[in-house]
Amino acid sequence: MWDAIAAQISQATGQTFVLQDRRSVGGGSINQAYAVTDGRATYFVKVNQANQLAMFEAEAHALKAIYETHTIGVPRPLLWNIAGNAAFLVTTWIEFGGSRDAQAWARMGEQLAALHRVHSSQGFGWHHNNTIGSTPQLNPWTPDWQTFWAEQRLGYQFRLAKRRGGHFPQQDALIAALPALLEGHNPLPSMVHGDLWSGNAAIARTGDPIILDPAIYFGDREVDLAMTELFGGFPAAFYEGYRAAYPLEPGYERRKVLYNLYHVINHFNLFGGSYEGQANRMIDQLLRWADA
Ligand code: ADP
Repeated sequence: MWDAIAAQISQATGQTFVLQDRRSVGGGSINQAYAVTDGRATYFVKVNQANQLAMFEAEAHALKAIYETHTIGVPRPLLWNIAGNAAFLVTTWIEFGGSRDAQAWARMGEQLAALHRVHSSQGFGWHHNNTIGSTPQLNPWTPDWQTFWAEQRLGYQFRLAKRRGGHFPQQDALIAALPALLEGHNPLPSMVHGDLWSGNAAIARTGDPIILDPAIYFGDREVDLAMTELFGGFPAAFYEGYRAAYPLEPGYERRKVLYNLYHVINHFNLFGGSYEGQANRMIDQLLRWADA
């Protein structure tokens, strides 16, 4: 398999690549990840079963779309294919290690804001479906944000959760409360990362902010800000940089809960356990706000 990957890297780059060293890179939850080098160039390779090629293809398209905005750093996809009985994706290798640099985090905020200023004229959605974790994420173009959030995000996850035995007694009430919760809020469709927890954002050794593993679509930019706060939060400089470049609108603190609910139900669908209770508490809170 590795000979086949090396041969395809040679072909894609036009530079003969003879694998000299390969080491496993930890931290990934879904794929095996490796750094491969021929002594001169180093690449990042993700490997999974052959039936996961479509997932790598979607990831490559997403990375390419973000790369082409020239707003924020991402690994650049080089090639994705089958080798032996595995699917693989090759991207540029990024040396991380600048994560304590506050100025770099302020740039991360500014550059994310620049990504969010890339708007779609087709409405909310994306021209491919993709995945959030390993859950399908459907992105049909939809003119109206509230409908998109109700049907393609919350509604879809609620249906999966029901099949998994989840119990969300107020789910219909919540969907009915969306007009109240989103009242007066008319976001433009922004290019969003879609899965921006702290494991998917880091500072390269060069000081460049990098985002990884996107679940891209055009949506309310607040979904990305909300998710940065879901598991621990980003450094304060990130929020200062973002707000200076693209101030948030009133009501974000409440919409944040509505947007993070999607990820919490998805976590219930992926991992079960206490995420059900967490989602129900969030739903109750949202309903209290909607009734007030
Ligand atoms: P998975 O798709 O399995 O979740 P990730 O994309 O999260 O895998 O990557 C796994 C690990 O590899 C993470 O620790 C991440 O920091 C690191 N990583 C991801 N992309 C690169 C890259 N282009 N260069 C160097 N390291 C990377």
